[in-house]
Parts: sequence; C-alpha cells; structure tokens
Amino acid sequence: MGANPLGLKAFLSRRVVTPQGIRPAAVLVEEECIRAVVSPSEVPPAASREDFGDLALLPGLVDSHVHINDPGRTEWEGFTTGTRAAAAGGYTMLVDMPLNSIPSTTNVAALEAKREAAKGKCSVDWAAWGGVVRGNQQDIEPLAEAGVRGFKCFLVHPGIEEFTMVSAEDLHQSLPHIARTGLPLLVHAELPGPIDAATSKLETANWSRYSTYLQSRPDEAELSAIQLMITLCREYGFHLHVVHLATARGLEILRDARSEVLPITVETCPHYLHLTAETIVDGATQCKCAPPIRDRANREQLWQGLKEGIIDLVVTDHSPCPPAMKTMDEGNFQTAWGGIASLSMALPVMWTEAQRRGFALTDIVRWMAEQPAKLAGSQAHKGQISPGHDADLVVFDPDAEFQATRDRLHHRHAVSPYLGETLRGVVKKTYVRGKLVFEDGVFPNRPSGREFAPASTELSVRR
Ligand SMILES: [Zn+2]
Repeated sequence: MGANPLGLKAFLSRRVVTPQGIRPAAVLVEEECIRAVVSPSEVPPAASREDFGDLALLPGLVDSHVHINDPGRTEWEGFTTGTRAAAAGGYTMLVDMPLNSIPSTTNVAALEAKREAAKGKCSVDWAAWGGVVRGNQQDIEPLAEAGVRGFKCFLVHPGIEEFTMVSAEDLHQSLPHIARTGLPLLVHAELPGPIDAATSKLETANWSRYSTYLQSRPDEAELSAIQLMITLCREYGFHLHVVHLATARGLEILRDARSEVLPITVETCPHYLHLTAETIVDGATQCKCAPPIRDRANREQLWQGLKEGIIDLVVTDHSPCPPAMKTMDEGNFQTAWGGIASLSMALPVMWTEAQRRGFALTDIVRWMAEQPAKLAGSQAHKGQISPGHDADLVVFDPDAEFQATRDRLHHRHAVSPYLGETLRGVVKKTYVRGKLVFEDGVFPNRPSGREFAPASTELSVRR
C-alpha cells in the first residue's frame, strides 16, 4: 500500500476493553486506524510494540455534550483549552453545542465561523450540533447538508440572550424539517411554567442556600417537558434525545415511551451520578447546573436507570465560565452561571462511582464512548476498539487513586466541584488516530484534532 510513514504498531494490554469484553490483546494500528485486534502471540514481528501490561486500554471516549464557546466567548473556554481538558480526561472526540459561542450555530455561516475558529487549535477531534431557535426552520436542512450531527433546542431560557428558546408552536414549524434530515433533536427538557411558579414563591428566600435553588427548579419542569416531547415524537417520528436527565421521576414515562418503540434516547451527566443535594454546602455555586442536582435517593434511581438501559449514555455537559460569573465570593445561586466543567474529571468520577456499584469498564465504555458516538452518527469510526475504527485509544489505570487538583483540570478556568476529592482511575495516555496527544499531564504534540466528517457515501446512505 505504498509509503507507510507510521508503520505498523502494536498496543498490548492484559485488559483491552473491546465490544466483546475485556481480554488480553494486541491492538494493531496502521496510520490512523485500527487494523486488527489479535491475541498477544499473533503480533507480526515487523510491528513496533508498546506493552501497557496491567493498565487498561479503552477506546477514546466521545462527549456529545460540550460547550466550547468558541468563537465569541473564548474568555469562558475555547478549542485550545477545551480539547486539552478532553485529551487529559480520555476523550478523543467532542460534539460542540450550538450555544454560548457567538454566533450561535444556527445557520451555515455560523458553522463556517466555528470551523475557522477551530483550525489548528484542537487536541482531539470534534463535530458540531446545529441550533434550533425560533424562526430558523429554513436553516435546518442546509445545516444538515453542511455536516452538523443533529440539532439542539431549549424549552426554557438558556441563560444567554442570543439563543432563543422554542415553544410547542415553534416546534411544529421545525420538526417536519428535522424529521426529514433523519438526525436527532437534542432537547433541554425543562418547561418554564413550573420554574416560574416555584421561583415566584422564593422572592425573599436566601439564595446562598442550595435548597432554595433546588426548590426553584422542581421535578415537574422536567416531567412536563419530557411529556410534551414524547407527544411530539409520536406525531413527527423524529429521533428525540433527552439531554441531562436529572429527575429519576422521568424514568417511568421514558420507560413507557420506549416500550412503544418510539425513537428516544436519554443521557445524564457525571455530576447527577456523583453529587447530591444533601452534600452541596451553601454558597457552593460551582455545583450549580440546570436541571439541578437532586437528592441521594434520586441519584441512586438514576444509576438504576443506567443499569436498566433507559438512560443510554453519560456525557459531561462541560459548560465553563469565568470564575467571576460563578459569584464564588457571594455564593448566590440565583445570579451564578449554571454550568459544570468536567471534561478532565468525568471518567474518574464515573469510575469511582461505577466500580463501587459493581459495574465494569465495559459499562463505562458503552455509556461514555459507544453510545455517544452512535448519537453523533460516528459509530463506524469512533467509540470502539474494533478493526476499521480510528485508533483512538486511552491507557487507563483503573486501580490508582489521585486527588483532584487545579493542575489536573486543563480547561480555561480552574473551577470544579471535584477539587480536593480523592478519585479512582488515572488517564495515563491518550491517542487520537494513532497519535499521542496526552501523557502524564503533558501534551507532547502540536494540536492535530480535526472535524469529524464521514465520507460522502456514508452521508448519502444516512439521508
Ligand atoms: Zn449543555
């Protein structure tokens, strides 16, 4: 096959996490791809060997819910720092949310601006979701043609002015277009009615208390939004994806909807599976996100939802901001920005909780690599250690513990609810398409991540 500048490499481990299970194996990598997964005795003599011994070899994780905020709000985050945090956290592909960057990714020109902003800055691969806002239904099919992986909308005010929320009326305009693209619609499922009603009773409450914030965003806001979206899903037949499910009370209606074989998928986030309302101290606005982190019993039920498969995937909703916007001095949960940045900590946070509950690395890989890759239509290339897939690999020590410190975060501002915690599982090395991008705290190569864009033949099959 002509010049082969990288040659054949063999990555060996006694714990290679494949779709068929965890086993001793050699992953044969040529150029940017996995050529084969063979037993350690079958490595061709000509291959260069790297043996990781007892360290686990995972596929690169895929995070389908990230706010990179670039272009336009790079003082919050950006492609350089966001993708570095990703590489340090064991992620090899991010899918960027259409909001918080300026412009929002709600038309093709804005998508092109994002591509321009990403050039030369990315340590890992990336792709984009398109935004669905009031009145942009004519932009939906052009965005799909231009390469977005699907769409995102908000049913409640998103906290910034330039990305408008949509009502049921707006959705009746947009959904026929979305259904025609065959791409998923990711929905922030909270309705404003129950939030406004709850908040109006809290005018004189103490907003430095977490319990005040929790009361202001009741379960009913999520439940009514999920019900509305299920009804619309039935009517229009589009792929509905519920982002960051926080209330376990939603599991029952989602279970029923899925038993109707509606095309619905569901995600939750590490913070809902780790933190609890009972332990968030007053003023700790680094724990503010929407929907809010609920109580311990709710957390345990979310784990049950994962076990049952009603929740398909776990993503970060990495959404940083400058420290001043978290109002850390004042600790005001009403005015602080809602968002938790966790790209570099999500895997250890998840592994710490999962192994305690008897889950295996195969579960982690299903939730954090395979399923998010599938949501983003990239499952033929990303999220698995399988022949033909990109050589996106993570060397992970599942038995080591470490303390979460600022120097391990790598995103733009060192704000995190996990600082000071002892977590289990250390990312040692991350490879993107065969190239080492992270090793023990260091980023050894120039950024070479690129936009995930499948071959045009695959696109025409999907549409
Ligand atoms: Zn988000």
